[in-house]
Amino acid sequence: MDRKAYEKNLAPPSNQQQEKLSTSKSYADPPPSIVSEPGDGERYSIGGFLGKGGFAVCYEGTLARNGRVYAMKVVKSQMSQKKMEEKFRTELQIHSKMRHPFIVQFYRAFAFETSTYVVLELCPNGSVMDMFRKRRCLSLPEVRRFMIQLCSAVKYLHKRFVAHRDLKMGNLFLDHNMNIKVGDFGLAAMILSDKDAKRRNTLCGTPNYIAPEVLDKSKGGHTQKVDIWSLGVICFAMLAGYLPFQSKTQEEVYRKVQNLNYVWPKESDSTNYIPEEAKDLVSRCLNLVDEERPDPDDIVEHPFFNMYDGCIPRQLDPSCRFNKPLWL
Ligand code: ADP
Repeated sequence: MDRKAYEKNLAPPSNQQQEKLSTSKSYADPPPSIVSEPGDGERYSIGGFLGKGGFAVCYEGTLARNGRVYAMKVVKSQMSQKKMEEKFRTELQIHSKMRHPFIVQFYRAFAFETSTYVVLELCPNGSVMDMFRKRRCLSLPEVRRFMIQLCSAVKYLHKRFVAHRDLKMGNLFLDHNMNIKVGDFGLAAMILSDKDAKRRNTLCGTPNYIAPEVLDKSKGGHTQKVDIWSLGVICFAMLAGYLPFQSKTQEEVYRKVQNLNYVWPKESDSTNYIPEEAKDLVSRCLNLVDEERPDPDDIVEHPFFNMYDGCIPRQLDPSCRFNKPLWL
């Protein structure tokens, strides 16, 4: 997102936006300026519009008691589609139990009038997708930093038998220090045993990030390793400036995934130097055999993070959402 769009996003929705949101059947009505929790009566004043997803709309919300600002996800309490209701229930059940520095913190959820409000940690710097749209290739230090943070979050999830199943750049939010915060747990699932894995054979995820075993029903389900495939897709995109599996039709994308048909940019075309170590790491994550994909711990031990110029910035300035940082 460029600065103008970002600032526009922080402003309350325009009349036109309001109208669009309120006439769309699946979205909640635009919230009143003050909402209050039924139990302890905490009051939040609703501020700028942050964004809109598949079924939720997000606004800034300031807690009246102390002025703290949160992201308030607003969802219709009575959803017309059962699938959406299920997605939201899973999201609440799994997300509410997670606590990790690189996962969007879930604080509480409550119903007010006709909507349900989810109070989340505010990520004011957009998502990695916004950054990718603006910059395309990210620098190697940025890729390393994001991948390490992402691996830390994924390790935490997998240790608790949770598969996120929708890791993509649009679900990697950025806090005020430009740290990754994994969000949107709507497709997450607990996978505790082989039996659970076998039950997990619904086609879910976002086509460009979907693992091959999810597409192949004969494989008999999928495990947490689908997240490692998505990490490979994310890492490729940040390095190359485009997604590895992309096409006009969904079928063609799926064919490319199943044939492991992806192409790195030619060195002469690329604005980014992509070292062999990075390509090797991506190829390990994009392995058609899910058991052979590395664990998050193996990923961070990979030589890509340890090369002679393998610096990993301790801090990133929010201006890097728009411009390549200058390393001093
Ligand atoms: P859905 O579950 O409907 O897909 P998302 O979780 O993707 O909804 O949220 C919709 C949009 O709201 C996001 O694309 C983003 O712009 C904004 N958003 C969501 N969570 C946060 C957050 N924690 N901080 C800032 N903005 C957020």
